Amino acid sequence: MPNPLLDFSGLPRFSEISAEHVAPAMEQLLGEARGAMRRAEDAPATWERFVRPLEDATERLSRAWGQVEHLHAVLDSPALREAYNASLPKLTQFWTELGQNQRLFDKYRELKAAPEFAALAPARKKLVENALRDFRLGGAELPAALKPRYAAIQEELASLSAKFSENVLDATNAFSIVVDKDRISGIPEDALAAAREAAMKDEAPTDGRPRWKFNLQMPSYFPVMQYAEDRALRESLYRASSTRASEFGKPEWDNTPLIARVLELRKEDAQLLGYPNFAEVSLVPKMAQTPRQVIEFLGDLAARARPFAERDLAELKSFAAAELGIGNLEAWDIAYASEKLRAKRYAFSDQEVKQYFPETQVLPGMFELVQKLYQIRITGQSAPTWHKDVRFFDIRGAGDELIGGFYVDLYARETKRGGAWMDGAISRRRLEAGIQVPVAYLNCNFSGPVGGKPALFTHDEVITLFHEFGHGLHHLLTRVEDLGVAGINGVEWDAVELPSQFMENFCWEWEVLENMTRHVDSGQPLPRALYERMLAAKNFQSGLATLRQIEFSLFDMRLHSDFDPEARCSAPAGSAVLDLLDEVRREVAVMFPPAWNRFPNSFSHIFAGGYAAGYYGYKWAEVLSADAYSAFEDVRESKGILDAGTGRRFRDEILAVGGSRPAADSFRAFRGREPRVDALLRHSGMIPA
Ligand SMILES: [Zn+2]
Repeated sequence: MPNPLLDFSGLPRFSEISAEHVAPAMEQLLGEARGAMRRAEDAPATWERFVRPLEDATERLSRAWGQVEHLHAVLDSPALREAYNASLPKLTQFWTELGQNQRLFDKYRELKAAPEFAALAPARKKLVENALRDFRLGGAELPAALKPRYAAIQEELASLSAKFSENVLDATNAFSIVVDKDRISGIPEDALAAAREAAMKDEAPTDGRPRWKFNLQMPSYFPVMQYAEDRALRESLYRASSTRASEFGKPEWDNTPLIARVLELRKEDAQLLGYPNFAEVSLVPKMAQTPRQVIEFLGDLAARARPFAERDLAELKSFAAAELGIGNLEAWDIAYASEKLRAKRYAFSDQEVKQYFPETQVLPGMFELVQKLYQIRITGQSAPTWHKDVRFFDIRGAGDELIGGFYVDLYARETKRGGAWMDGAISRRRLEAGIQVPVAYLNCNFSGPVGGKPALFTHDEVITLFHEFGHGLHHLLTRVEDLGVAGINGVEWDAVELPSQFMENFCWEWEVLENMTRHVDSGQPLPRALYERMLAAKNFQSGLATLRQIEFSLFDMRLHSDFDPEARCSAPAGSAVLDLLDEVRREVAVMFPPAWNRFPNSFSHIFAGGYAAGYYGYKWAEVLSADAYSAFEDVRESKGILDAGTGRRFRDEILAVGGSRPAADSFRAFRGREPRVDALLRHSGMIPA
């Protein structure tokens, strides 16, 4: 088959896909999908003759486009970016057309009313209900005269989202700073080795003096912020990072006008659909019912966290003044002073802990944990990938049956967007030939190996890896056989962080860590005494961290509910957004960044991801994930934290059912009761353990 994007016989043929394959593949698949849509309009309203053929055609389109989107996110190049952006409007147009299709909407209604509906499996019933809801939200009920406007909004929003993300990546890559020996004091060895390698890649300096090059990617940025004694160096990096994609940089990368436009379009979208604001639309398919409910939930949590955050900040300020000679704690001093305070109080540093977490130990350790918990087996396999650093693994069940597969792409690089995320490549479903096995992508931005040693991960990075793997298992361990509700498909977005945040908890268990750690040089496991100190420091500044998450969540929710740029101020576009952020901060925050901080300009979660009026979902789902984990804590004494019985129930009731039933039902089925906030507060040190 000449075009690898049209091959659905197995794993994506990543080593063969190039930019010129994109347009022809999409043309063909869009044609096929439109054909299927036309045929479905005239088909009888049954599962087999209507739902399934439509699903077949749209799945091929989504799968191929998913590969393109994935490459756009992890292997950006001018050619691919151009191909992606050229096809994006066509894809968006198709999805809008489908969502607005009155005849298909009627057909789903017919199916729901038919006697066949009662006989459908619960997963399929849920799928039909979801489809009806999504048709309503997709504009199917709009009068014909308004549909073109609605479609134009979707198209513009999709392009703006892609551009937002590209601007952040370009602005991130545009900055670097090269320094001499006199400015590197305090920065750890491995970060220096990477910075030295980066400097040497550029032309060799003629005077033969060694130099170090730092950039805004996390593995370079964060060690400087945490350890560099050169305060001006920290300030340079902080300033560059927190003004990315703003009016302080290249005008063509400025996200300010994009933000204003996105908000305007989302508002118009909501009003067309008959909702007062976009937050109301966003909440329709979520667990939370109204923006008010979310704002109250966040307000309650903020009130509980506030005294802890105030204490955290007061301690940090007095420590910085007394011991570091920093009288006026600036934003670029926070990570630095915090790490010093933590090192002093708990007698260890992030850097020391990191030596015990080489990748060669962490990855197998994480696999062993889930193998025990869920009675599965994970093995490395060869598969075509997009980069030499990417690996592929498969998951098999107790009877050696193939359950799923996943790619792991761990290291930061210029072609990859920042952060960490999981994405589905193939979803589970039953086909005539048998079960189609799900496949996932796990993407992180960790430091790679330097100086011939394996990559070393900070404990925070290990937690991130577990988090993404938790999403991956949700996608992979599903037993649902209908694509639309298999794995994370169809899961309420404010419950989707349950399996991921659940996994993070294991990073604090001795039973897990003693097997997962080996000192990179000595080969010794993590000393118990160091573990105890890590545990004691677990909730160091958790008040501050909680308030920060609440600040982002409230900003997001208010931006999409009661925000009115015109009423707020008449100043240039963008400052109304900053004005709202300031107001939110005055309400909940205890720390205030400099006035020139442009956090919204790189807040990709809500402007380029799926978290608009949904960022609160992290905290919302953390109530569920902490409470779910407490079921394991309940049996820790008697059976150990990796209790296979509790693991089986978690897999059966939460992971396996995916989106086939409401998340609240799944939680109740696992926990035997309604969720309680106690475990979250206890885990965060906000009530006695
Ligand atoms: Zn997540």
